Parts: sequence; structure tokens; C-alpha cells
Amino acid sequence: MTNTLIGIFGGTFDPIHKGHLACARYVLEHCQLNSVRLMPCHLPPHRATPGVSSAERAKMVQLAIAGEPKMQLESLELNRQAPSYTVDSLLTLKQQHPRQPLAFIIGMDSLQYFKKWHRWQDILQLAHLIVCRRPGYSAEQGDAPALLKEYSGNLQQLTTQEAGVILLLNNPDFAESATFVRQQLPLNTEIQAMLTPAVMQYIRQQRLYGC
Ligand code: ATP
Repeated sequence: MTNTLIGIFGGTFDPIHKGHLACARYVLEHCQLNSVRLMPCHLPPHRATPGVSSAERAKMVQLAIAGEPKMQLESLELNRQAPSYTVDSLLTLKQQHPRQPLAFIIGMDSLQYFKKWHRWQDILQLAHLIVCRRPGYSAEQGDAPALLKEYSGNLQQLTTQEAGVILLLNNPDFAESATFVRQQLPLNTEIQAMLTPAVMQYIRQQRLYGC
């Protein structure tokens, strides 16, 4: 199979920060993708419903990627009135693009509990996983070692196989975290540097996160 990979970066993006953008850029540069679709979830299944609406989170994604020609907003989860299970979104994308392999992008924190994701085996039947390292989260913890032992592969396999390969990247540390941003934003203006100016402006205009 020589078809171009479709990169999908799912997240709560509450809010989108420079760490997300750095991951997407790194994947674009190192995994020979034409584009990465950033897919904000509507109702995250693994955590409390965010205080900021999915429409607002999607708007921030749009603002953050405005100057990134290879990044797009993927809005398919926004209108689904059910928990935003990744497997359902990948099924939809696979129907839309049956001939192209899908690569779902996650950070190491997500890989550590990936076996708790709804129908995780089906996710690996539908897509590859591209994993960005993340400071504070080792590949030796949680579900990561067993998953890497069974599914780990190289870049070439992402295009020669249809799904089921986990590619662990060697990206530098991207320190940003949305939890930290949410906690610190009202207290510490230096945290603003973790966001793009357009996202920060939107947060102020809409008075999000206690700003
Ligand atoms: P929160 O702190 O609210 O959990 P987050 O910063 O992890 O948020 P999410 O929107 O939940 O952001 O993340 C979407 C995806 O991006 C996840 O798979 C997460 O692991 C990954 N990710 C987020 N920030 C980083 C980072 N700094 N380095 C590597 N991966 C990251």
C-alpha cells in the first residue's frame, strides 16, 4: 500500500496549547504526512465534561492553526451527541477514506492508559498510533511497555501496513499541559506564553478560565 497516511490528533484541547502544535509539527516533519487533522472531542469519555464548550474549544483550535497550512480542524465529533469515543470517529473516517491508512496521534500519557480506551483493540484494527514522548511520562509505565512490545514498528510500516503499528517518536520535550494552563492562567500571566496570541486574545474576550 502506498497511499498517503491521514494523521488525526484527537484531544480535549481545553485549551489548545503550544505543546499540541509542537507535537503536530513534529509528526508532520518526521512522519511524511501531508496534513494533520486536529479533532476536538465533544464529550470526553475519560474525564469530566469540560467547563468550556466544545464550540469554544474548536474555535480555539481554529485560531491556533490559522497560520499552519498543513493542519486542519476535524469537526466530526462536535455534533455527535454521545461520548466521543475515538473508535467511532475512526470508523467514520475509515468509511470516508477506505484506501488511506489512518494514524492517530497521542502523547505518552495517553499510551500509558490506552487499554482503558473503549474498544482499544478495534482502534488498532482501524489505525496506527503515533506516540509523542511527554515529560513526566515514561514508556516503562502503565500499558506502554506491553503495547510497545506487541505493536511497535517503524515509519515505513505506517504506509506498508493498513493499521496496528505503534510508532514511538523521539521528539524533544514539550512542557505545556492544558491542566497547568487552566490552573495557572488566572494567577500567572507568564503562562500566556504557552498559548498562541490569537488563542489568548479569544480567552480574554470570552472570559474563559477565570480570565
Ligand atoms: P489535560 O492536561 O487537560 O489532560 P493535555 O495538555 O493533555 O490536557 P489534551 O487535549 O488532553 O491536552 O491532549 C490531547 C493529546 O495531546 C493527548 O494524547 C496528549 O497526550 C497529547 N499531548 C498534550 N500535550 C502534550 C505534550 N506537551 N507533549 C506530548 N503530548 C501531548
